[in-house]
Amino acid sequence: MQADDPSLKRIEPPTLKWHEKVYVPTIIQGLAVTGRHILGVAVASKQVTVQYPEEQHVPSPNYRGVHRLNKDEQGRVKCVACMLCATACPAHCIDIVGTTAPPEWPDREKYPASFVIDELRCIYCGMCEEACPVEAIELTGLYDITGLSREEMIYDKAKLLSVYDVTRDAEPMRYTQVPAEASAPTRILPSLSH
Ligand code: SF4
Ligand code: SF4
Repeated sequence: MQADDPSLKRIEPPTLKWHEKVYVPTIIQGLAVTGRHILGVAVASKQVTVQYPEEQHVPSPNYRGVHRLNKDEQGRVKCVACMLCATACPAHCIDIVGTTAPPEWPDREKYPASFVIDELRCIYCGMCEEACPVEAIELTGLYDITGLSREEMIYDKAKLLSVYDVTRDAEPMRYTQVPAEASAPTRILPSLSH
């Protein structure tokens, strides 16, 4: 598009009035917000800080923290090494090496021999979780992980499975219950039915 294109809509910056130029009313408004928060803490006990680590912050249910690799009923890793999560990951921080599943696992062709996530490179977007067809990878409410080196923050399969072990009671797998409507026959959209 050219700069002189007639379809371009030009917007002029608003002209500030004198009281807007001195910013005093805006500063007063800002101080009023600060005062409201001070009064909320002092009078109504509405403090939002916690005495960490003695007191633990409980994140909201949709908080996206450290990953875990889920296990199935037999204690096996649920992942089938389809690579969809690694493909969907915008930060390219998932590295999977798939291998042929043992004969005693007839329900799948592959499983991950190695599964590594760089937790420092991750942007915690949740795309891996969305992409997984078997609910094998989930982001948990864990937020207070630390490490003394970059290597410590690169989680391998064993570590990701151990996150499942420590979080499964507090955070059951989100999709273990099949929604009632999922049992209804799939309806084909009119535009796709011919
Ligand atoms: S949360 Fe996002 S950035 Fe992190 S591993 Fe998953 S897809 Fe990649
Ligand atoms: S975690 Fe899910 S999406 Fe990723 S490789 Fe395993 S099965 Fe596929």
